[in-house]
Amino acid sequence: MIDAPTKLLIDGELRDAQTGRTFTTYDPAHGRDLANVAQAGTEDVNAAVTAARGAFEGAWAKTSPAKRARALNRLAQLLDEQTDALAELESRNNGKAKWQCAAEIKVAVATLELFAGTAQHLYGRSHVVNPSVVSYTLREPVGVVGAIIPWNYPLMMAAWKVAPALATGNTLVLKPASATPLTAIRLGELALEAGIPAGVLNVVPGPGAEVGEAIAAHPGIDKVAFTGETSTGRRIAQVAAQSLKRVSLELGGKSPNIVFADADVDAAVIGSLWAIYYSAGQSCEARSRILVQDEAYDAFASAFAEKAKSLSVGDPLNDDTKIGSLISRSHADKVRGFVEMGVADGGELLAGDGLSLGEGLDGDAFVAPTVIGGVANDSRIAQEEVFGPVVTLTRFADEAEAVKFANDVRYGLAATVWTGDGARGHRVAQKIRSGAIGINTPFIAFPGVPFGGFKESGYGREQSIEALDLYTETKAILQGTSPKAANPLGV
Ligand code: NDP
Repeated sequence: MIDAPTKLLIDGELRDAQTGRTFTTYDPAHGRDLANVAQAGTEDVNAAVTAARGAFEGAWAKTSPAKRARALNRLAQLLDEQTDALAELESRNNGKAKWQCAAEIKVAVATLELFAGTAQHLYGRSHVVNPSVVSYTLREPVGVVGAIIPWNYPLMMAAWKVAPALATGNTLVLKPASATPLTAIRLGELALEAGIPAGVLNVVPGPGAEVGEAIAAHPGIDKVAFTGETSTGRRIAQVAAQSLKRVSLELGGKSPNIVFADADVDAAVIGSLWAIYYSAGQSCEARSRILVQDEAYDAFASAFAEKAKSLSVGDPLNDDTKIGSLISRSHADKVRGFVEMGVADGGELLAGDGLSLGEGLDGDAFVAPTVIGGVANDSRIAQEEVFGPVVTLTRFADEAEAVKFANDVRYGLAATVWTGDGARGHRVAQKIRSGAIGINTPFIAFPGVPFGGFKESGYGREQSIEALDLYTETKAILQGTSPKAANPLGV
């Protein structure tokens, strides 16, 4: 068991659930219970919405943009100071390598700072409509935001939603994933410490089917911001449509990583390892399909598989670990099922059989970095999101075929193109239907750069100035300026 807050955070108070229910959250890498957490129900969602609405119309509405910016910067500073403790909590609850959790907390810090900087720059537009009317626009907060987040980047995903929502004057009801509720509750506590008033950020861990749906359906919530699986996003959009809530969705992916024969193969191998194996492949933007031009295929495949085998898999708290456990045994089983399916469908297992772990770890929750070669782009393993450390290799003949394969999936979140021809890099990037494309770099998500999907990867852009549109309504105000009263009816 762990020393961390485990209660609901509503109206500035840590509370038990009204029903008194709790659920257990785990340390998946060691196969142990980690904490019993208060389990919110619909009555707690109602209380959180009431608190958020009160704060939206009360204390937070009275807080100037400059003070909102200061509070967000103070929250960023607290996260920065507590990175080590937060990273340990995240790593133990998620199974991800602790150094990766720490890097993600730094991204959360940068995200809070980015949006703190926007709070005083929420400009509208003005224009003279005609000689007798002038108009201007205001960007007003949407209201109460329901934020529903996944387990793969818990604190970072919370920050991606909390920062722009608060910068623009909204209040929130935040539901973390049931697998990883702990750092979200701590974030809520730190927000209070940073001077963000009670009720502005409420945290309600609990099951998606009950608490998530209650948020999506609640008439007192004005907007839902969701990250998670495409099927869940579809359900949330359906439920939210009943009250015509604003919805933004960051969903799944099956992103391509295209290696042309003219690329620097060493750089492509190293970058491609990061693009799939970071976070043990449990990333929406994981480049999980490597497309390699025929001439480069054999050299790339053998170098990539060798390096994949060399990545250390083990205790997430160990600094040398590159790949920790997956989020749970059952998720690891699902990933292993995909590998079996890929091989049964004719793929060749180039890396991934065999795993030796240290003492005290739950081997069933780990999956070795896996490479499946010779995969057809239309096979299931190349089309469905695996969400684990599994990558497929597919050959292509020329640029046109690379673009065709890249786009021939239902998702469109990210892509990487490796080429020595600068013009080709941009030409291919322009033809790929995805939200973010790296040319000769695996890094496609930074604070300040729009992040979000085409196609079934969702809609809306986070992490950038575009995110302000997700959390504001535009209001037009018009002023008559004619010295003579307008009389269009001629009465
Ligand atoms: P889920 O969609 O299962 O869960 C995400 C969140 O939604 C959780 O808080 C979950 O609660 C909640 N939820 C589940 N069912 C409902 C429902 N019916 N109504 C409302 N909320 C619900 O995704 P995972 O947590 O499994 O996360 C992994 C997925 O997220 C992957 O598919 C990945 O691609 C995607 N993802 C996308 C990202 C992006 O930016 N595009 C970033 C990160 C992940 P509970 O935990 O209680 O089930």
